[in-house]
Formats: sequence, structure tokens, C-alpha cells
Amino acid sequence: MLLGAHVSSAGGIYKAVGRATELGCRSLQVFPQSPRVWKPAVHPDEDLARFRELAAEADTVAVSHAPYLINLAGTDPVTIERSEAVLAQSLRTTRGFGGLAVIVHLGSHLGSGFEAGLERAAPVLERVLELAGDGTWLLLENTAGAGGTMGLTVEELALVIDRCGRHPWLGVCIDSCHLYASGVDVGDAAALDATLDELDSRIGLDRLKALHINDSQMPLGSNRDRHARVGEGLIGERLSVFLGRPRLQGLPAVLETLGHDGKGGEDDMRELERLWRLGVGG
Ligand SMILES: [Zn+2]
Ligand SMILES: [Zn+2]
Repeated sequence: MLLGAHVSSAGGIYKAVGRATELGCRSLQVFPQSPRVWKPAVHPDEDLARFRELAAEADTVAVSHAPYLINLAGTDPVTIERSEAVLAQSLRTTRGFGGLAVIVHLGSHLGSGFEAGLERAAPVLERVLELAGDGTWLLLENTAGAGGTMGLTVEELALVIDRCGRHPWLGVCIDSCHLYASGVDVGDAAALDATLDELDSRIGLDRLKALHINDSQMPLGSNRDRHARVGEGLIGERLSVFLGRPRLQGLPAVLETLGHDGKGGEDDMRELERLWRLGVGG
């Protein structure tokens, strides 16, 4: 696995690359804009070019995480319109810096049901996907399943991909904490393999392009999304099973629990060391 972390892009988005390589990361994730505002951020072309050069030099694979506000499946048309604008700009930015993917949460159908949510999300995804390509994917992240969030199971993710005509640049990102909270014990090889088998047959493993490595504060099947630092949650050392699965090797796999100041404080260094150790041992 190309182990790495979500790092800050403060002071210029290209600065994320140096922060990640200093921490020993082989992959990184950034926010292409502030994750909690609706205004799409436009980065100077020279910053994007700089990012591309630095990442190539460091041999680092970079992905973006789209803003958390996005809801493509909800019942409010204004929110969907704003979501489309920030997601589109996230794709432009990420393609601009040569990133592998933009990772997005589909959002919640807000009680209206998966089918209704899919009807609203699919046309937006299809328009936004016109901006993907040239090595930059749009990846749907699996969720823990709280509050009508879309993408709880492999089957739900597959239905979205099918509905978008199996677009060549539409794939998935699997988060180990969300998978655990959704009821799949990622520390158990047989349980994890059953899910990967399903993912392979329904979606295709060639569309699995990135992983999020988080431990979980909440129990198996709790449908609650609370990340824990690697080794400090309920998955614990058994995270090495997920990290060691043969079919997941070669993928960028980022921690989302480091302090986002990117300074690599003591807690962060301890967590990274645990990750390196579990990743090698698995
Ligand atoms: Zn996410
Ligand atoms: Zn995640």
C-alpha cells in the first residue's frame, strides 16, 4: 500500500506535498478548498503546476477530499446546486495538480429513500464527471450509514455506478472505519474478503482507487462515524488485516486523523509509526 495521510494545504495547495513527504508519506490527501464553505476556491495555475512537479519529484500519489457540506441526494434543490458547483471546482483543481481522484460523500436522502436520492444525485454526477478524466477519477466513499447517508453498502455504491452508465472515471474509495461501523469487520480476513469479492463482482476492483485508513470509536455495525487514531479504536492491531489484504496492495491509503495543522506533533508521529508498523506486519 502507498501509505499516507490527509495533510494541510495552508499557505498554498502545493505545500501539502512537502508536508506529506516530510512525514514519510507515499500518498496524501488534501482539501481542494475549505471543507465547510460553499464558495468554490480557485487556485492560481502556477500553484497547481508546482504541486504537480513536487508530487512527481517525490513520487507521491495525491487525492482530494471534496467539502463535507456536499449533499447530492437531498431534498433541497439549492443545496444540490451549490454541491455541484463545489464538486465541479474540486475536480478542476485536482485535475490541475495531477491528482488521482476527488473523493466525495454522496450525502443523505434525508429520509426520502435511496431510490429518490439516486434520482437526484445521478444527473449531477453525470455532469460533474465530464470534468474527470486524464488520470483523475471521481470516487464515491462508503459511509457508516447514519442519517440516511447514501453508499452504506457495496450494493448501494454499485447501483449509483450502474445508474451513471458505469462511467470510465467513476470509482470508489473504501474507508476502514466506515466499513467497520457499517457492519463489516475489517479485522477479520474472511469478512473483509467477502466484501471485496462482492466489490469485485458488482463494481470491479479496477474501480477501487483509494483507501481511507481510520480506526473506529464506535462498535461494529453501530452505523456511527467516529474516527479513532490508528491503534486507539475498537479495530486496534487487527487493522493489520485490512492493511495486508493482497487485493488492496498498491493503492493510496491515507490516514484522516492527523492534526490538520500539518506540523506533525507528537501524537501524529506516534500514530504514523503505528501505521508503518501495522502496514508492514500485515
Ligand atoms: Zn470522507
Ligand atoms: Zn474517510
